[in-house]
Amino acid sequence: MRAEIVSVGTELLLGQIVDTNAAHLAQVLSDLGVSVYRRVTVGDNHGRLLTALKSAIDENDLVLTIGGLGPTMDDITRNVLAEAMGDTLRHDEGIALRLTEFFRTRRIEMPRSVLSQAMVPTKGRALSNPNGTAPGLFFENAGKMAIALPGPPSEFIPMVANEVTPILRAKTGSRTLRSRVMRICGMGESMVEERVRDLMESENPTVAPYAKTGEVHLRVSSLADDAETADRAIAPVVAEIELRLEGHVYAFDDEPIESAVVRLLAANGQTVATAESCTGGLLASRITEVPGSSAVFLGGAVTYSNEAKTDLVGVPAVLIDRLGAVSPEVAEQMAEGVRRRFGSTFGIGITGVAGPDGGTSEKPVGLVYIAVANTCGSKVEKTQFLGNRKDVRYRSAQLALVMLRDFCITRGSDT
Ligand code: AMP
Ligand code: MG
Repeated sequence: MRAEIVSVGTELLLGQIVDTNAAHLAQVLSDLGVSVYRRVTVGDNHGRLLTALKSAIDENDLVLTIGGLGPTMDDITRNVLAEAMGDTLRHDEGIALRLTEFFRTRRIEMPRSVLSQAMVPTKGRALSNPNGTAPGLFFENAGKMAIALPGPPSEFIPMVANEVTPILRAKTGSRTLRSRVMRICGMGESMVEERVRDLMESENPTVAPYAKTGEVHLRVSSLADDAETADRAIAPVVAEIELRLEGHVYAFDDEPIESAVVRLLAANGQTVATAESCTGGLLASRITEVPGSSAVFLGGAVTYSNEAKTDLVGVPAVLIDRLGAVSPEVAEQMAEGVRRRFGSTFGIGITGVAGPDGGTSEKPVGLVYIAVANTCGSKVEKTQFLGNRKDVRYRSAQLALVMLRDFCITRGSDT
């Protein structure tokens, strides 16, 4: 089944609210095996909405609208959708009574405009909205379906679950779109693409890459008559990609890298400690957000000043004087020093220029040194990140996690 989502509201076009409803609906529709081919946003304007709806109905089996079902002048979805669907509206006495009652029990005078919400499709029906006054609408005419839902998320979200899902389930059966997200670190988007390009041409399952901050995701999706069939189609493609990306797939679906690293350390019986300068504890924070991290994270120091680098993790003061705090040697000494201090398997040191001030031509903003140490030695990486202070800090913590994972995998047995 092909569908289009039409979000209605000038406030969406002005950027005053974000279309969270459409994102939610799109996810639910994909679970139901309904293919969303287009999403559009239209203002509260009769002519433009009618054009958008006619085109949506013309090209799809199902159109879902969001918003514009209220009682005010700018709430035009009900009438315009009826017109686009070739239907007329009729007055529903039951709904009118419910509205009248709603106002009477609250002792508020009911504006006449409220009764517009009692108008329902002639070829279709109203959809129950227990959390608001405007019912949803279901139109079915000449092989096409349309569903209109109110804008407030507190009304919209329950209606998607309780009204829309059963209607569509009855039409699509167990058909579903299943996806597996492969999370990849230590390899750029274009390299990932180069290795899997031929698989990206397949139509079922589909393979699509997404660049994220400091990592790449590959989504492998299959549309099938039931979940088992879809999963069976996805599995060999995922296995093939894992093989081609040689250890760069660190986790699946929602698992972030800090969790994958904690899992790996725990499985190996290894521990880590951190000495952070420009990230100010962000790395420790990300690691300790993972449940169970107490088994692998021994502690960390935010060694922001030169003195703290010397006093807390033993970086020689002369080294800092000679080379500056942002240098590969200091990063290595931080990693080694904190490892010794906490008695952990691995130590991590991060030192860099997060900006926006403090950069020089020699050591520009975004220059970061990250070191990982174990008893056998250490490895340091120099990087030059782009972006603002927040980006530089996040990417530094991210790269430290990627390096730690690498170190665990390739040198885990040295310990
Ligand atoms: P409406 O049904 O168009 O009168 O919208 C009523 C309220 O619902 C708006 O003021 C927004 O706060 C909210 N709303 C409308 N459309 C959306 C949407 N697509 N996503 C999230 N919230 C929305
Ligand atoms: Mg509106």
